Amino acid sequence: MKTVFSVEDSLVVRNIIKQVLQSEGFNVLEAENGKQALEIINSKKPKVDIYILDVNMPEMDGITLLGEIRKFDTTTPVVMLTTETDKSKIMKAKGLGATGWIIKPFEREPFLKVIRMLLEKEG
Ligand SMILES: [Mg+2]
Repeated sequence: MKTVFSVEDSLVVRNIIKQVLQSEGFNVLEAENGKQALEIINSKKPKVDIYILDVNMPEMDGITLLGEIRKFDTTTPVVMLTTETDKSKIMKAKGLGATGWIIKPFEREPFLKVIRMLLEKEG
């Protein structure tokens, strides 16, 4: 079973992500900001197959969290979530090693397609 770590401050979006992924048989871990995610990573050392990181979050945003994750893990796919068309944030995330991008609001099937594609690429 593949494990997805979903880091998103919006409870509504977080629940949609969880529902969609669990209905497809994924194991879903969750945090509501980057700081909480790092605490979980450091304390529980979960095996994660793919990260989904919201860009805009309180405490620690998704770009910062991506940078922190890439310090110890350069291979696990990381998908960034945003509502924005902010080119500078997209370029920054790419530079830091983001492997995919999903614009909110997203539909179930295109969302799953991105997740599956990145997991297949990883092998
Ligand atoms: Mg947000």
